[in-house]
Amino acid sequence: MNKAPILPPATIGIIGGGQLGQMLAQSAKTMGYHVGILDPIPDCPAAQVSDFQIIAAYDDQVALKKLANKCALLTYEFENVSLIALETLKNDVSLPQGLRLLAITQNRLVEKNFLRANDIPTVPFTEIQATTDLTTVGAYLPGILKTTVGGYDGHGQVDIANTTMITAHAQLYQQAPAILEKRLAFVQEISVMVTQDGLDQVHIWPIAENKHEQHVLKTSLIPAQVSPKVALQVTQIATKLAKKLDLRGVLGVEMFVTADEQVLVNELAPRPHNSGHYSIEAMNVSQFEGHIRSITNLPIAPLKLYQPALMVNLLGEQLTHARNELSHHPEWHFHDYGKAQIRPLRKLGHITVIGTNAINHNKNWLKTDK
Ligand code: ADP
Ligand code: MG
Repeated sequence: MNKAPILPPATIGIIGGGQLGQMLAQSAKTMGYHVGILDPIPDCPAAQVSDFQIIAAYDDQVALKKLANKCALLTYEFENVSLIALETLKNDVSLPQGLRLLAITQNRLVEKNFLRANDIPTVPFTEIQATTDLTTVGAYLPGILKTTVGGYDGHGQVDIANTTMITAHAQLYQQAPAILEKRLAFVQEISVMVTQDGLDQVHIWPIAENKHEQHVLKTSLIPAQVSPKVALQVTQIATKLAKKLDLRGVLGVEMFVTADEQVLVNELAPRPHNSGHYSIEAMNVSQFEGHIRSITNLPIAPLKLYQPALMVNLLGEQLTHARNELSHHPEWHFHDYGKAQIRPLRKLGHITVIGTNAINHNKNWLKTDK
C-alpha cells in the first residue's frame, strides 16, 4: 500500500467509546492528534479523554457523516459496527482498516470460512440453521452453539451436550445461522496482536497466555510459556493473516493449543484486544500506539518486551475491591475506565504488573477459582 502518512494534529474519529476507544484515544492524543468519538452513551470512557463526542447510535448515518466531515480518518474499536452505514462514507473519509476486514470479522461463520479457505486450522465446526438435520451433527458434540453475529464475552453462546439441547436453544439460529463448534480439550489459550505499519512491515506482539472466568477474559500472562513449535505456528498464522487481510490497524488473534502442540485459531478481532493491554507498560510500543501508527501510515519500531507482565481484568465489583486495595500495591498499574455502571462480569478496569517479582507477588490472581 505505502500511502502518505497522516500527521498530527489531524483528527481521528473512533466509532465506539468503550475502554478500547479510550486507550486508543489516549495514544493518539499523546502523539498530538485530535480525537472525536461516536457513541450513544454521553461521557462514555473514550469521550472522557477525547476532544469531542457525537452522541448517536453506531448505525446513525447522519451522525457518522458528521463525524466523517470532522475527521481525516475513521477507525472502529469493535466489530459490530454497521457495515451498510460505513459503506455510505466510503467517499467522504478514509477508513484505513477497510470494510472487508469488518465484513469477515463481524460474522463468525464468514470468519471461520475465511480461515478454512486460507488453510488456517480452526476447531471443527458446522453451520446450524432452522432446516439443519440435527441427526448429522453428532461429530460436533459435546460442543458450543455460538451465534454468528453480535456475540462477545460469552454472550450468544451455550454449551451443548446433545441434540435436544440444540433444539431448546433454537432462538440462537432462527434469524440467522449459528455455528456448532466441538468443545476442545485445549491445554492453553493464547493470543497475539498483529499489525502492518505504513511500510507494510508486519509486527507481532508477544504471545499472551489467557485464562477466562465464565467465558470472560480474567488474566493474561506475557510471555506465554510455549514451545518453539507452538511459537512458530503462531508467527506463521499471524503473518499470513496480516498479508491475506492486507491488514491496517491491530488484529487480535485468539488461539487454542492442543496437547500435541497444534495451534488452532478461535476467533479474530479487528482492533486492539483485551489480552494486549499489558503492552502499555511492558513494551516499547503499545498495541494502541501500534494501531494508531498503522492507520496513519507511520512506521513502527521493532517490537520489544521490556519485562514479563501479568494483566488482570477487573470485572464488576472487583473494581471496587481493587480500588480499596490500591494503597497496598505500589506495583499495580491501575486502570479504571470510568464506566458509569457496575454490572456483574462487566469489564470496568484492569491492573498490569511488570517484572517477575511483581508477578509472583500477585500470582493469586492466576488461580481460576478466584
Ligand atoms: P467471545 O466472542 O465471547 O470471546 P469465544 O468464541 O472467544 O467468544 O469464546 C469465549 C471463550 O469460551 C473462549 O475464550 C474459550 O475459553 C471458550 N471456548 C470457546 N470456544 C470453545 C471451544 N470450541 N472449546 C473449548 N472452549 C471454548
Ligand atoms: Mg473470544
